[in-house]
Amino acid sequence: MVDYKDPKSTIAAVQVPSEGEAGKTGSWRSFKPVFNPEKCILIKSEKARCHICWMFCPEVAITKSRPPTINLDYCKGCGICSTECPHGAITMKKE
Ligand code: SF4
Ligand code: SF4
Repeated sequence: MVDYKDPKSTIAAVQVPSEGEAGKTGSWRSFKPVFNPEKCILIKSEKARCHICWMFCPEVAITKSRPPTINLDYCKGCGICSTECPHGAITMKKE
């Protein structure tokens, strides 16, 4: 059984951001994700693995980098990254 909180037991499709028919969807947003690097496990520990935010973002708006970055041109403000981050490193703020 796949434990979605354990990055070692998950398989994620590799996707690259691309502009769809809807164009840049960031303008649909009423809440935006705010990244707090002090809480991100990838910043706290060089050996840590995570990228759960990247894995769950339905818009591929988060990079699989260290630290992850959020492309607000495509982020629709769904809040999934904030909900799924196990360390509370992403909070949603009203725009
Ligand atoms: S709020 Fe939604 S669309 Fe925006 S970065 Fe987070 S998961 Fe992706
Ligand atoms: S899910 Fe949270 S702790 Fe993990 S990489 Fe993303 S922001 Fe950092």
